[in-house]
Amino acid sequence: MTTWRARVLTPASPTEVRWLDDAAVVHEHGRFTEIGPYDGRPVDEDLRPGVLLPGFVDAHVHFPQTRIVGSASGPLLDWLERSTFPEEARFADVGHAAAVAEHFVQRLAAAGTTLSFAYGSVHAEAAEALFATLARAGLRAIAGPVLMDAHSPEPLLRRVERALPDLLGLVERWHGHDGRLEVAVIPRFALSCTPRMLREAGRLAAENGLWVSTHLSENTVECEVACERFGARDYLSIYEDAGMLTERSVYAHCIHLSDDEWSRFAAAGAVVAHCPDSNDFLGSGGMPVGVVRGRSIPLAIGTDVAAGRSFRVPRILSSAYDNGLRCGVTLTPEELLWMGTRGGALALGHPQVGALEVGLEADACLFLPPPWSEDAAAVLASLIFDHDARPMARTWVRGEQVWRAPGA
Ligand SMILES: [Zn+2]
Repeated sequence: MTTWRARVLTPASPTEVRWLDDAAVVHEHGRFTEIGPYDGRPVDEDLRPGVLLPGFVDAHVHFPQTRIVGSASGPLLDWLERSTFPEEARFADVGHAAAVAEHFVQRLAAAGTTLSFAYGSVHAEAAEALFATLARAGLRAIAGPVLMDAHSPEPLLRRVERALPDLLGLVERWHGHDGRLEVAVIPRFALSCTPRMLREAGRLAAENGLWVSTHLSENTVECEVACERFGARDYLSIYEDAGMLTERSVYAHCIHLSDDEWSRFAAAGAVVAHCPDSNDFLGSGGMPVGVVRGRSIPLAIGTDVAAGRSFRVPRILSSAYDNGLRCGVTLTPEELLWMGTRGGALALGHPQVGALEVGLEADACLFLPPPWSEDAAAVLASLIFDHDARPMARTWVRGEQVWRAPGA
């Protein structure tokens, strides 16, 4: 049993937070057992003036792009060709993959991210290195290699006959590992897959109860080429026909969908990974967050590193705020915190995390706001909108420390 004394800020509902300016927080066997006003008891550690927050959830991030953050060569299809594919080809080298995996996991932990949905390169060996690193570091993740078997540089192609058995091997070794790791089925996007690859991927995900994730309707040229190549009536139908539109599907971007596509998306219970900073950086367009909210579609926030420029989910929440304004929706800081923590965790099927609540698993991070931040509003302002904020001081998963900033 460990008892902390700290200031506490946690989402209490999609629109409300709970704030305790002096709290006792107890966790035992990886779960919170008590969170309430400090009552004078002895503590193991006094974390004040730090503010304890739930760990953040990053619903869309690319592990092999860790070293190309900030490579400005959009729009999407040019960026893939110039910046992304050459870097991802290097992940055929397992040594390179292992070194980047280490860096990637550190960047997540330093950002206070305790659960991520991480895309790999096409190489199962690189994904193996990522899972091994995540297992050692103690982070929670849903991850897998991307599937690509068409219209991409030769070194990044893996045919169905090799890619899917490799993926099943990863499932055997890592799916469910320590209750923290899950293997996902990740066709990169329609433009890098044959119809057969998409169908087989959809089938494999359904048969094994795995999450499936891909990019959807990010860029207008991408949408046109995809519909043309597949002879599809709209972009969503390409994935729908492959059995990939279910409540275990996470779609990144979702910018240029029609009303009809949104209706089918909502009816299926699929999840939006909203990547507003990436959408800005590549000039992809705005995600209609009002439509998503109006239809009660589950939403989680994605940094989309490296088309996104930061591993810090709170930094991306600031972009989500700006995106909202441009679509006529004013999101409150309380709503934004929900999206980046509890809302994201629920959307990704992790009801056991995402808030500081008795009974939930003790995933948390410690934020050091400026000394004059004395209430929830001031802490949220600093956390989300002060882009010069420091990395998290500490991060824990199930009460085990996974990150401590130098000097913290
Ligand atoms: Zn992406």
